[in-house]
Amino acid sequence: MNCKTLVVELEDYLDEELDSELRTSIEVHLAKCKNCKLIVDTTKKTIQIFCNSEPAPLSEDTRHRLHDALVKKLGRPRA
Ligand SMILES: [Zn+2]
Repeated sequence: MNCKTLVVELEDYLDEELDSELRTSIEVHLAKCKNCKLIVDTTKKTIQIFCNSEPAPLSEDTRHRLHDALVKKLGRPRA
């Protein structure tokens, strides 16, 4: 597990759709990577805000935009 893999799997992780082996890999990575921990915490909060303000769960479009933003953030360390 590295930071890029984590971001790719993040949505399924937050949706609790990952198999337990992959979840464990992510949790092990989160325990030692502050950057990813921050991303996960921020993403969780963002999802909560979306859920509180809209009756429907995240739309596909929102999920894709969120995902793209995270990938860009990781791809550009000085963003
Ligand atoms: Zn990381």
